[in-house]
Amino acid sequence: MKKWMILLAGLMAFGQSALLQAQQPHTGCGTPHPKQVLQFAATENSSANPYVVQIFVHILRNDDGSNAAMSDATLRTNLDRMAAFYRPHNICFTVVGRDFIDNTEWNTNYSTADIGDLHAVNPHADAIDIYVHRNDFEGSGGNAYDIPSSKCSVSANSSFNFEHEVGHCLGLLHTFEDFMGAECPDGSGCGSDGDFVCDTPADFAGSQNMSSGCTYTGSQTINCNGSTQSYNPPTNNIMSYWAGCYAQFSGGQGARMRNTIDATGFLQSRLTPQDRIISNTTLNAEIAIGAQNSIQVGNLAPAGDVAMNGNARGILIAAQYVQLVPGTSITPTGTNGILLTINQMCDGLFLTSEFPTADRRQTEAVQLSAMQVSPNPFTSGVQVQIALANPGPATLMLFDLTGKLVQESNVQVDTYGHTEQLELPHLDPGIYFLRLRHARGSESARLVKL
Ligand SMILES: [Zn+2]
Repeated sequence: MKKWMILLAGLMAFGQSALLQAQQPHTGCGTPHPKQVLQFAATENSSANPYVVQIFVHILRNDDGSNAAMSDATLRTNLDRMAAFYRPHNICFTVVGRDFIDNTEWNTNYSTADIGDLHAVNPHADAIDIYVHRNDFEGSGGNAYDIPSSKCSVSANSSFNFEHEVGHCLGLLHTFEDFMGAECPDGSGCGSDGDFVCDTPADFAGSQNMSSGCTYTGSQTINCNGSTQSYNPPTNNIMSYWAGCYAQFSGGQGARMRNTIDATGFLQSRLTPQDRIISNTTLNAEIAIGAQNSIQVGNLAPAGDVAMNGNARGILIAAQYVQLVPGTSITPTGTNGILLTINQMCDGLFLTSEFPTADRRQTEAVQLSAMQVSPNPFTSGVQVQIALANPGPATLMLFDLTGKLVQESNVQVDTYGHTEQLELPHLDPGIYFLRLRHARGSESARLVKL
């Protein structure tokens, strides 16, 4: 009973967000509408220092460690491209680690509802956790848990999912968002409707389907302020659904992300501390590099000006930069100081070292269904209660001890579950097996007829 109740409670919570995003095409993104929308004044008080967001990437593999959703080389390409989109907005990233999570179901049959379970495996309080899976059950490109959020998933099937889902994590809504009211094409209401950003033109769901290449060819209109207004949607914005045409975040979106970080404690705790992001500054005090950070040090002249303490190790890269390994502590001597250059996600330098890794083999059971049969043993019939993590059609099959199918019924399970009454007075007394088969797997129960 307990198992059933827990799953049902989870399903009800998930069902609400699933309901709200019902109009979204499956080819898009599974991020739900935000629980509440942060609204900012036009002016912002952003730091001159870059916002260096720490990220931890989890690559899903199958149970046996095969079929990694993404290679390190492809991941590097994706992260470098993502960083290039954020850099003009004074936001950059530090990759604090990459691990593997081995779970065939999550890797090859991921559902947006799985992200809560995934996040229980190896969560980080100091980084946004990004989960990369190979195939998505619902066909979406990924999802953030909320807007903003500290966790998101991306499907390996699109190279643009990183920048889009991380945009949600940092507070951005879809350009076509209208759950708080549609933005008018003339811009009125832009700060409190639509995506809450004023320099992204009004958009509508499905605009990407009215296109020739990256050009909008539709003639969609909306009645706004007593007039009929025509849309001219953004076709290159990363928070639109014009995935193949992504070219930028707008300035307003950059400000919204910085404002969101400023206003959100759990995002601030995921920034690289300021004493580790000094850029092009001469430093005359000791600097300790955190256990999960690396910083490149340049202009080491003359040789011997830097004393490395304790377990420090340096790696010479391209005869110009020394990358200090995690845990390093350095003390400049004399008056020359050290010129620190932030990692490649901020300044565009290519970091040639391997990812910091924390490989782990992690297998976790995913609860996809719950079936409860009563009474059991039974005399003439049973009541079967079913809940599915992904509501939809399912089949109930009853087998006898020899494996012969004696009865089969198709059922439709909604977000609140389904109850099916099976009348079985004609069966001989004995042992039977009831199998619930659904899109993502099956579950069986042993029944006894008296
Ligand atoms: Zn999205």
